Amino acid sequence: MSLSRAPSFMTALRVRLELKAYTLIGGGRVGNVIEHVKDMIIERVKLGKGSIASVHCKLMPLVPPTSIKGVLRSIAEKIAKRLFTGSSIPEKLAILHHQPTPFEEDARRRSNLLVINTVHSDMRDVATLGFEIQTLEELERNGVMDRIPLGVDKGLRIAIPKDESLKKAFQEYLRSLKAKPSERLAIMLQGLEAGADKLFEIWASTLCPICILFGSPFRGSALRFTALLPAGLRVELARRYHVAIERSRGIRAEGKLYSIECMEPGTILEGLAYLLLPPAPPEAEDSDSVLSSEYSKALDCAQKLFEALMKYLENLDILIGGATSRGYGLAKLSLEFINQELNRQRYYFRSN
Ligand SMILES: [Zn+2]
Repeated sequence: MSLSRAPSFMTALRVRLELKAYTLIGGGRVGNVIEHVKDMIIERVKLGKGSIASVHCKLMPLVPPTSIKGVLRSIAEKIAKRLFTGSSIPEKLAILHHQPTPFEEDARRRSNLLVINTVHSDMRDVATLGFEIQTLEELERNGVMDRIPLGVDKGLRIAIPKDESLKKAFQEYLRSLKAKPSERLAIMLQGLEAGADKLFEIWASTLCPICILFGSPFRGSALRFTALLPAGLRVELARRYHVAIERSRGIRAEGKLYSIECMEPGTILEGLAYLLLPPAPPEAEDSDSVLSSEYSKALDCAQKLFEALMKYLENLDILIGGATSRGYGLAKLSLEFINQELNRQRYYFRSN
C-alpha cells in the first residue's frame, strides 16, 4: 500500500444564498461600499476575425468566496467542539482550533512567540496556551532531533504541546524529520527563524480537519468556492440611511447621517463549490509513519465535519457580510451535491 498523490476525493456542489435581511457585503467599509460590493463581470464578448472585437462589461454585486468560507469556518469551529471527543490526534486538534483572541496574542508576545498566530492552542491554559518551549539544542540533547544542520541556530525555540498524546505524536514527527534528506529539514528549520512555533502549526494544520477543509497558512483548502452572483444576473441594490452613534457616549452623533448600499432581502445568489480532499502531504507518504495513519483519520474527520456542517445549514440561518450587529446579513445558505452523495469510499490508499 502506498499513498496516492492524486486527489483522493472530489465533488462539486451547488451553492445557493437566499437573503432574508438587507445584506452588506464588503466588511462595513461604508464609504467605499460600491467598490466592495460590486465587481466587474463580462456580459458579452464578440469575436471578430481572429481577434476580440468587442467586450461588454458591467458592474455586478456579488458575494466573494472569502466571505462564504469565513462564515463556514467559524461555524465548523463551533461544531467541532461538540462533534469530536478528542479520542484521536485529528479530533484533539479540531477541538483546539480557534481564531486567536487578543489575550492569547498577548500571552504569546510574553513568551516571545509572535511570528504567526497559533490556532491550535489550549484556551483554558492561561499562562502557556498549552505549550512548553524547548530549544533545538534541548531537543537534540533529548534525542528528539539530531543532526541539526550547520548554520541553524540551536538556540531556536520550538513550542511543544503539553498534552501527552499530542506531544508524543509531534515528537514522533520531529524524529521523522531527521530521517529526511537534510535539505528538507533545513528548509523547515529556516521557517523557524526567530524561534517560533511554526513547526508545530505546520504539523497540526496537516492533521486538523478544520485546516484540511478551510486551509491554513501552510496548506491549501479542500473547500473552494466561486463568487456567488445574483440568480438571473439581475439585482436591485437598496440604499439605507442610519444615524451615526457616538462611540464614547453611546448616543446619536449630532448632524451625522450615513448611508449603506446593500442587497435587498429576497435576493438569491448562486455559485459553485468544490470539495477536493487532498492527497497526503509528502511527509505522510511513508506508509509506516504515525503521520500517515493519523492523516487517514484526519480525512475521515474532515468528511464527518463537512456532513455535520451541511446538517447545520439545513436547520439554521447564517449571518454574512458587514453590520450584522445592526441587523444586516441574515441569510439561508444551502449546499447541494451536483453529481453524487458524499460517499465514504476512500481513494487515498492505492495498492502497489
Ligand atoms: Zn486547524
